[in-house]
This record gives sequence, structure tokens and C-alpha cells, in this order.
Amino acid sequence: MTTPISFAQVTRTATGQWSLWGPNSGGGASVYLCGDVVHLVVYGDESPLPLGAEHVSTSLPVDVYLKTYAALPQHARAVADIQTRLAAASGVERTAHCACGQLRALTHGEPKVVSMCHCLECQRRSGSPFGLGAWFEKTAVDIQGEHRTFTRMVEDRRVINHFCPNCGGPVFWEADGRPGWVAVAVGMFADPKFPAPQRSVYEDRKHAWLQFNVDNMEHIP
Ligand SMILES: [Zn+2]
Ligand SMILES: [Zn+2]
Repeated sequence: MTTPISFAQVTRTATGQWSLWGPNSGGGASVYLCGDVVHLVVYGDESPLPLGAEHVSTSLPVDVYLKTYAALPQHARAVADIQTRLAAASGVERTAHCACGQLRALTHGEPKVVSMCHCLECQRRSGSPFGLGAWFEKTAVDIQGEHRTFTRMVEDRRVINHFCPNCGGPVFWEADGRPGWVAVAVGMFADPKFPAPQRSVYEDRKHAWLQFNVDNMEHIP
């Protein structure tokens, strides 16, 4: 139904509208959410809509937009943004805490991304065969309780782990590569219904017996 498209640039305007621009023809699209309707305006022939159309506008219920476009990487940021805004509007609140309960992370809205990491450092940090982090904007997380830090380098970038000084639980971490964001260890939510990971990274270190049954998960070696 939709044709894969190749947009060179994904930008966001001051009014919060996502613009997706094609590499050659100047074709592109704008995506914006208004209430529970998504407006998609497509220019030129980069369109997943009928090719050759000069200027096509369409409006879709938000659930239809998310179902139709979520799989297209060019729309990933617009889709993630819309999901975050819907979650914030729906007021999802969760609490993560360490085993002794002293260090807590209260999160508001859905995570921006849930990422599974098989790197050896995450194996050592978590004590499990992989690390699983839910990334939020810092403004969406309230930290309560005492914490100590352990900093490690990933190439030339820091990853700062924050753990409970009482029980040692590694509740959250920050990374230079993601300024303004914080990852909360998914296990600390103790919630089997927590959203599944969208990506699995360092799969070349993955324990061979691990298999996943997750739709649309990105696999990165
Ligand atoms: Zn603790
Ligand atoms: Zn890792």
C-alpha cells in the first residue's frame, strides 16, 4: 500500500510540525497532529501517495497514521513524537526503584525509546545477559533518594551509571551521546507489561540462546 521513500532531511519547524524532504526532486512531506487527527501534506513525487501528484493533502485518524507509517524510517521521529505527546496527554506515570526502595525514578509519559543492549559492559552493569533501558527526557523523570555514580567510557563518550548506595541497584544512567535524556533500567519498574524494546544493539555480543518475539524491532550488530 505504501512505497518506501527516501527522505534526505527530517526537520522540525518552530510550530512543531515535522518536515520530511526528499534528496533530489525537492519533494517532501509535512506531518502534524491536531487533536486526534494527523495531517499529512505531500509535495512532489517522493510521496507514498499517488506518484506525480504536485501537492496532496490527507488527514488520517491518529491510530491509522501510526499503523500505516510507523514502519517507515522516514516517519520514525514524527511517529515517536506523536506517541510521546499522546502518552503525556494520557498521563501515564510509573515508578522504578531499587531492591531496597531507597532510590526511585518517577517517570511521566511513555519512554522515547526502549533499547536492549547486549554489550559486555551492560552485561556487567546489570548482572544479566543484556541491559534494557527506557529513555526519557530528563524533564519527564523525577529522581528521589541517594545515589552514587560509576562512570565508564564508550569510545570517547561517558556513560554515568547511578546506583543505590544501600543495595547497589543500578536504577538509571546518562550518556554523553544523548544529552538531556536519562535511561531508567526497565527491570526496576518490575512491570511485565512495560513496553517492549524497539531496538536491540551490540547483537554480535548476544548470548546465542536469546530469541525475541517483538514486532518491528531494529536489530543492530
Ligand atoms: Zn537500594
Ligand atoms: Zn551496552
